[in-house]
Amino acid sequence: MKKIDLHVHTVHSDSPLTVAEVARRARRAKVTVGICDHLSPYHKMFEAGAFDDYVADIRGHGLLLGAEYCIGETIPVDDERLAELDYLEGGLHAVDLGDKKYFFWGSEAPEDADAFVDRYLETTLAAVANDPLDVIAHPTYLPAPLSERYDEIWDERRCRELWGAAAARGVAVEISGRWSVPGPRQIELALEMGATFAVGSDAHRREELFDVGYAYRMFELFNVPEGRIFWPKRKKIKK
Ligand SMILES: [Zn+2]
Ligand SMILES: [Zn+2]
Repeated sequence: MKKIDLHVHTVHSDSPLTVAEVARRARRAKVTVGICDHLSPYHKMFEAGAFDDYVADIRGHGLLLGAEYCIGETIPVDDERLAELDYLEGGLHAVDLGDKKYFFWGSEAPEDADAFVDRYLETTLAAVANDPLDVIAHPTYLPAPLSERYDEIWDERRCRELWGAAAARGVAVEISGRWSVPGPRQIELALEMGATFAVGSDAHRREELFDVGYAYRMFELFNVPEGRIFWPKRKKIKK
């Protein structure tokens, strides 16, 4: 199976890796690579100028051009610019609980875990229904204080809703190397429900580059056909 990694971060958001280095290592490792930096009010790429520099840098190195916006937040560039991307990933990084926003990388558990997960699912479903995304980044990822309850939280009912919506809209389900999500049981159900899968390491550091072994192990385990693996088309470059 040809190897792909569509979720690599660089200096254009929160990684010290340059695009040149990623491109060099991708050639050496014979992996097709897409750069997928954060396109978000919380990161460097939060306006048109930075976005245009990003596009030029990635195109200049011949890599696939993606971006990761924050689900639930406004995408900070216009549709015309967005259409320049080969693919758009949407990642949920915070859940709006009404009175406050819960950010995933804090250390405290949400007070009401069920309310949190319901809102999590609702927010992701709204993005799948309304946003121009091609891939759900690290779907079903849970903040550390909840991760022990993963299989209980992502039960069949919740997964059927999520995978059903993704399959119906043709939005790919990412299998994340860095976070090892979704779990095997959840992937098996997504496959049965007709979802397509995207492969991403979510690398922010050199040693995480192209760490997509988990995804390929799952493809082998469940005999996922190549036709169910998302392979973005490179867009023609405008002059
Ligand atoms: Zn993310
Ligand atoms: Zn990411």
